[in-house]
Amino acid sequence: MSFVFRCVMVLLVFSFIVYVMKAIARLSFNLRGTIRDVSKLRDQVGGRPESSAEMIRCASCGSFISTREAITLSSGSKAKTFCSQDCAKVYLTR
Ligand SMILES: [Zn+2]
Repeated sequence: MSFVFRCVMVLLVFSFIVYVMKAIARLSFNLRGTIRDVSKLRDQVGGRPESSAEMIRCASCGSFISTREAITLSSGSKAKTFCSQDCAKVYLTR
């Protein structure tokens, strides 16, 4: 009886170890995926500021805005950039 009990215990311990190993493997896999995501994110974040850090001046109020937020109006060969549509309107009606 005690032999059977010991067998069951060994089996239980073994299955527990396998379970833990699987959990660790899955965790490290997830972690690796997260690290990859983070580095990808960092690449995106690192690549973006150069374009968004480019500041241009609003032709109407003179405030500096990033090129991504700017509104560009082109009349003929000239292109004017504005910080908002209101500024563009103000400039056009002036
Ligand atoms: Zn403006």
